[in-house]
Parts: sequence; structure tokens; C-alpha cells
Amino acid sequence: MANLLWLQGGACSGNTMSFLNAEEPTVVELVTDFGINILWHPSIGLEIGQQVSDLLNDILAGKVQLDILVFEGSLVQGPNGTGTMNYFADRPMIDWIRELSAVTQYNVAIGDCATWGGIPAVPPNPSESTGMQFHKKVKGGFLGENYVSKGGLPVINIPGCPAHPDWVTQILVAISTGRIKDVLIDDYHRPKTFFTDFVQTGCPNVRNFIQKEDGGFGKRGGCLFYEVGCRGPMTRASCNNILWNRHSSKTRANHPCLGCTEPGFPHNDLKKGSVLKTMKYLGVWPKEVPAGESKLMYYFKAGVGKVSPSNKTLLEASK
Ligand code: SF4
Ligand code: SF4
Repeated sequence: MANLLWLQGGACSGNTMSFLNAEEPTVVELVTDFGINILWHPSIGLEIGQQVSDLLNDILAGKVQLDILVFEGSLVQGPNGTGTMNYFADRPMIDWIRELSAVTQYNVAIGDCATWGGIPAVPPNPSESTGMQFHKKVKGGFLGENYVSKGGLPVINIPGCPAHPDWVTQILVAISTGRIKDVLIDDYHRPKTFFTDFVQTGCPNVRNFIQKEDGGFGKRGGCLFYEVGCRGPMTRASCNNILWNRHSSKTRANHPCLGCTEPGFPHNDLKKGSVLKTMKYLGVWPKEVPAGESKLMYYFKAGVGKVSPSNKTLLEASK
């Protein structure tokens, strides 16, 4: 059995909503089949007020073992590092998190706000928000770069806005069944199982990407990279392999990938003209190119794709 405590900081509850929709396994199966005992959760916990403070104090006093601390939302440190903008159970939430992080076996950050600060940390960041162990791409965040939990691991990051529910429940199962040390994590502490391939892997628009056929919102038969800022080729996530609702993904519905599993999210700090739009040099050349590719090589390949006859053109010509 593994005792799990879920707390929220500067959060919209989106990751909780996502978590409750998990299918493989479901939240109920976490409890009935995988021995996870949810000590408390802000949306489904039955305890209120003093009962919650008592539980937290019992954990800190060693009367209740904490195996998994899950945190959703940013660590709100304002004003001036006091954390009093986000009070919880009579104390700044950051004080609880600092102390609970010292006693938990494993520490899991869910969603972009908890992993790297997310939207609340966009400058000027009035709430002084940060992530558990990263601030955007820089390691450190609230707990510091050298933090490891009692179980010997740094904070395990499951990013996303929100994180896919099955990414969350499968990592919780790995912890509760004693297999978490077999799960490799990348430089940003993301489990490689879910965050190695790019979103583009499995996207039905890849042929259009290669042949440089432009698409648009909700429009079938085009790639969203060239005009509407799709970040599928530079975002590591399994959204086109482990589908959302077992059914679809943003790019399958012809909505651009926003790159929500990368520590730069929201990219360009929501600068005007940068959202759902491809940033370009001289209005022609994309400023960001697929990961691992040099700009010159990408521009060359895109140029060749543009002037080569596409499947659509060949099909029309053959009629
Ligand atoms: S850029 Fe986006 S829409 Fe185009 S193929 Fe890649 S993931 Fe699909
Ligand atoms: S498709 Fe992109 S923006 Fe959408 S959930 Fe996946 S990584 Fe995030």
C-alpha cells in the first residue's frame, strides 16, 4: 500500500480534472487494484478544515507515512518570498511543501505550473511563482537543484497543460508497485516512456508537413506548422500515440500543438503575435525549426517540399 497526498498551489484544477478522467488505469483502480491510499485530495478528500491540518501535522510528526506527495499548480512565493499569497491550513502553502518534501518517499509534480512555473510564472510574475524543481528551463525552482526525496529520486515531472491522465496514473502505479526506479527520466525529470518521441509521431498530417501543404484550424488535410504555430515537431509527448479520451489529439482535430510539455511553455511568454501563430523571419522563414535540425537544412528541405508536386497535385493531374 502507498499513501498518497495531493495538494494544489497556484492552480486551475485542470490536472485534477484530467486525472479523474484516467482510463488506464482509472482512479478507482488505483485504489482497488494498485493499493494506493489517497490520504487527501482537494477535490475528492472528505476531510475539511482542522481535520486536514491535523493530517498534515501527523505526517510531519511521523505518525502517518507519506509515500507519494503529488503537487499541482505553481509554488506561490509572493509577496517578497513569504508565500502568504497562497495560504493553506493556516500556513503559506510553500511552508507545507518544504516540510512535506523532506518526509515523502517520492515527490511528483503534475502539470506545467508545478513542474516549471507555467503560465503563472510568465513575467512580470506578480505571484513570484515557480516550479517544484525547475523554473522554466533552469534547474532549481522551489526545492533547489540538489533536492532528492527519501526514496532517492528528484521530483518526477509530469508536465502538460493539463498532463494526460494516463501519464499520471501509470507513474503512480510504478511507484506503488515498487518499479519507479526502472522508469528512466530525462534532463527535465520527465519519464522517458512518455516524453521521448515528438508529438508529430503519429500525427496524420505528417505527409502534409513533408510536402509543405499548409493547413488551418479545424481544416482537414494540411499541416499546422507553417502558419498557425504547431509545435509538434519540437515537443516531446505521446499525444498522438496515447490518445486523449482514447480518441483524438489536438493535431488530429487540426488544432496546433502548443508545446505544453516543454519547459518553455507558454512559449515566447505569450508575447503579442506569438500565440497560435508561426513566428517568422521576414514573414517567410519559421524562427523555430523541428528539434535536431539545422535551420539551413530545414529551410532547404521545406523549399524542396514546396516546389515538388504533392500527392494531391499528382492525383488531380491523373484525373
Ligand atoms: S507540424 Fe503539427 S500538424 Fe504538422 S505534421 Fe507535425 S504535429 Fe502534425
Ligand atoms: S498536443 Fe501539444 S499542446 Fe496538446 S497536450 Fe500534447 S503536447 Fe500539449
